[in-house]
Amino acid sequence: MISISIFGIGYVGVVAAACLARDGHQVIAVEIDQKKIDLVNRGISPIVETGLDEVLASAVGKGRLHATSDARAAVHATDVSFICVGTPSDASGGLDMTYVRRACESLGAAMADKSESHAVVVRSTVLPGTCEAVCIPILAATSGKEAGTGFGFGYFPEFLREGSAIADYDAPGLVVFGAMDDCTREFLQDLHKAQTTPVKNVSLRTAEMIKYTSNAWRAAKIAFANEIGNISKACGLDGQQVMEVLCSDHKINMSPKFLRPGFAFGGSCLPKDLRALHHLAREHQTPTPMLEAILSANAAQIDRAEHMVLQTKAQKVGFVGLSFKPGTDDLRESPLAILAERLQAKGREIRVFDPAVLAQAQATGSHTRLPARLTDRLDDLIATSEALVVGNFYAETVDALGAAANRIPTIDLTRLNRDRMSAGTYEGICW
Ligand code: NAD
Repeated sequence: MISISIFGIGYVGVVAAACLARDGHQVIAVEIDQKKIDLVNRGISPIVETGLDEVLASAVGKGRLHATSDARAAVHATDVSFICVGTPSDASGGLDMTYVRRACESLGAAMADKSESHAVVVRSTVLPGTCEAVCIPILAATSGKEAGTGFGFGYFPEFLREGSAIADYDAPGLVVFGAMDDCTREFLQDLHKAQTTPVKNVSLRTAEMIKYTSNAWRAAKIAFANEIGNISKACGLDGQQVMEVLCSDHKINMSPKFLRPGFAFGGSCLPKDLRALHHLAREHQTPTPMLEAILSANAAQIDRAEHMVLQTKAQKVGFVGLSFKPGTDDLRESPLAILAERLQAKGREIRVFDPAVLAQAQATGSHTRLPARLTDRLDDLIATSEALVVGNFYAETVDALGAAANRIPTIDLTRLNRDRMSAGTYEGICW
C-alpha cells in the first residue's frame, strides 16, 4: 500500500485516484476547483466515465480517497505526488504550461519543510525536455532540494482513452516511464506488477516524446482511414470494408514493419501508386491532403539527407547502396539514386559500392539508370571518399564502415549499429 496525492482531478487524475484507491492505496486528490472537491468528497464523479461512479463512491466510502485544496497537507501526508493538471494549447499552438508550473510551485513549497523523502511524478502530457527544463527546476527552486537526491522525480505519461478509461487503466496497451532515481523507478515498476503489460523504462525525454508520438500516430491513423474511406466512397466502395481487410494483415500492414525511422521510401511501386491514387481521387473531386503530405514528407527526407551530406563540405562522396533497398538492383525511383544525382548536379564526385547494382551492370555491360561510378572495393571507396553515405545495410560492410565512421564524416541513412547515436564524425539521419 502506498499513500499518494494526485494534483488535478480532471479526466486523468480522477480515474487514477479512484483506481489507486480501489486497489488499496491511500489517495488524496488535490484540486483548485472547489466544486470538484465537494463532488469527490460526496463520492460523486466530476466526469462522466463508464464504471467510475461505483469505483469512486466505494473508494470514498471506505475512507481511502478524499479531495482537498490543501497541497501542503496532502504532500506531508503522502509519499508520492502525481501531477495530472491540464496542458492545453496556448494562442500560438504551443503548450500552455501555466497549470503545470503552478502545481510544481505548490508541490515544491510543500516539500520544502517535509523531512521524509517525497517523489513527484508528472503525468500531464508535456513536450520532450519539459521535465528537465521546467518541472525539475521549479520543484528544486521552491523546495530548496535537489532532484534525484532531495526528492524523487519521474515522468509517467497517461495513455487512457476517455470512455474506456478504467478498462485501459487495468489493462494498458503501453506502460512507459522515465525516472531520475532508483526509488521512483522501483515505485513505478511496483505499481504495475499486477498487470501483464510489459513496463518500459526509458529516459524522461524519451517518455515525453513517446506520449506525443502515440497521439500523433493515433491521429494519423484516423486521418488516413478517413481519406481512404472518402476515396472508396467516391468509387462506390465500402471504405470500412477496405480498411477492415487491410487491417487483417498483421504480418505487414498492422505490424512494426515500415515504422522504423530512416530514409525515404522509393522503388517501382510506392511512389507511383501513391500518385495514381491521388490522381484517382482528384478525378472524383475528393480532397486527399494526407496522400499529398505523404509524398511531400518523403521528398523532405531526401532534402534532409542532401543537406546533411552538403554540410560535410566533402567533394568526394562514397555511397554504400544505391538501389531502393538491399537485395535488389532496382534503381527505379530509388531515393539513394535521386540523392546521388542531386549531389552530382552540385559538383560532388560520387562513387558507389552496391553489390546488386554492380552484378547487374557486369552482367549486362552497363546499368540502364546508373548515375555514378561503381566500385566492387569497399576499402577503396572508404580510402578515396571525403564523406560516406550509408544507404543500404549490407552485413559484410558493417565493421569496416563502423571503423571508418570514427574518422570520415559518415551519414548513416539505414543504421549500421543499433547502439550508435550521432556523435563526432558519425551522423544518423533519425538517431
Ligand atoms: P482536465 O482539464 O480535465 O483536468 C485538469 C484538472 O487539474 C482540472 O480539474 C483543474 O482544475 C486541475 N488543476 C489545475 N491546476 C491545478 C493545480 N495547481 N493544483 C491542483 N489541480 C489543478 O485535464 P485532463 O483531460 O485530465 O488532462 C490532464 C493531462 O493529461 C493533460 O496534460 C492531458 O493532455 C493529459 N492526458 C489526457 C487524457 C484524456 O483522455 N483526457 C489522456 C491522456 C493524457
